[in-house]
Amino acid sequence: MKGKIAFLPSAHKIEFHEYEVPPPPAGGIIAEVTQTNVCGSEVHMWRGEFGGRHGTMPGHEMSGRLLALGDGVKQDWAGAPVKVGDRIAPVYYSVCNRCVNCVRGNQAACLNKVISGRHPDDPPHFVSTFATHYVVRPNQHFYRVPDNVPDIIAASANCAMTQVYWGLDRARVTYGDSLVVLGAGGLGLHAMAIAKARGARVIAIDGVDQRLEEARKFGADETIDMRKHPEIDDRVKRVRDLCNGFPDVVLEVAGVPQAFADALRIVGAGGRVIEIGNISPALTVPVAPSTITFKSIEMIGVVMYPPHYLKKSLDFLAAHIDRFPYREMCDATFPLTRAAEALERSDRRELTRAALLPQEG
Ligand SMILES: [Zn+2]
Ligand SMILES: [Zn+2]
Repeated sequence: MKGKIAFLPSAHKIEFHEYEVPPPPAGGIIAEVTQTNVCGSEVHMWRGEFGGRHGTMPGHEMSGRLLALGDGVKQDWAGAPVKVGDRIAPVYYSVCNRCVNCVRGNQAACLNKVISGRHPDDPPHFVSTFATHYVVRPNQHFYRVPDNVPDIIAASANCAMTQVYWGLDRARVTYGDSLVVLGAGGLGLHAMAIAKARGARVIAIDGVDQRLEEARKFGADETIDMRKHPEIDDRVKRVRDLCNGFPDVVLEVAGVPQAFADALRIVGAGGRVIEIGNISPALTVPVAPSTITFKSIEMIGVVMYPPHYLKKSLDFLAAHIDRFPYREMCDATFPLTRAAEALERSDRRELTRAALLPQEG
C-alpha cells in the first residue's frame, strides 16, 4: 500500500512524495490521517521562515483512524483499549522522560524532543501530517478521540488547545481570577473557553470584528476593540475598569512583539504573564525590565506541553462540545493535493483556520 506526503523544499513551493506505507513499529501504530490543520507554524514554513535551505515537512495537528498496531500495543496512553478503526489523536512529538526537565515533570521543555523529520525520503517517511498516513513512534503518546468529538475539533487539540491548557495551568488560572487574552485567534479562543469553564473572568482584546464576536461565543465576558482603544494607556484603563483593578493573568497569543510589551503594562502587581504567541527569533521589542521587577510579575513562557495534557484537552472537549461553538472553528477544508492553496490563502489571511482532508481526493 502506497501513501502520499507533502514536502516544502523552499518558500511557496510544495512537492508530494509517494512511498510504501511501512509496517507499524513495535510499540507504535500506523494511522490514516483523516484531518490535518494549517496551523501558524505551517504558514511560517510556507513563507520559508523555518527550515533554511533544507526545506521542511509540514503538518503536525491531526486526527486519524488507527490502521495497524505494532507489537505489544493494546491500549492508548491513558489505558483505553484500542483496535483497528478507532479514531485517535497523537501528540506531534515525543519526549525522552529521562532528561533533567522530564524528570522534574516539565516534559514540555524536554531536552531531547523528537519532532517530525528532515525529509520524507528518510524512513519511516510518514512523520509529519500533511500526508495520507502517519507513523506514531513507540514512545509517542496517542489517545482515542471521544465519540462526541469530531475529527475537525480533535485535530486542533494536539497543538493550539493543549498548549494553552498547559499555559493556564502553569499560571494557576482558577475560579475568581481575571484573565486578559491578547489575540482572539485559535489559541486565544481555546484559552477563553478553558478559563471560562474554570470560573475565571475573561477579557479579550483584538481588533477584528469577527474575532471579537467569536471571543464572546468562546466565553469572553468582555471584549476590548483595539480600533476604539488604539493607545495602550487607554486599554490599560479599560481593563482596570472592567475588572475593578488589575487583572491577575495576561495571556499573549497575538503573536506580535508589541503585544508582549502590552502584557507587561496590562497585568497587575503580583500578576502572571503567559507568553505563547511570539515565535519569530528575529522580532524584538523594547521593554523596561524594571516593570517586571517593580510589579513582581511572574513570567511564564510556554512551548508545547507535557504529552499527557492532550488527554486533558480531549476530555475537556468531550465535556464542553455543546457549550462553545467548536464546530465553527474551521472555516475551509481542502483535499491534500490542494495544500498549496490552503497555505497561500492562510498566508494572505483570507482563511483563519484551514484544514486538509487527506483521505478525500
Ligand atoms: Zn526529556
Ligand atoms: Zn499547531
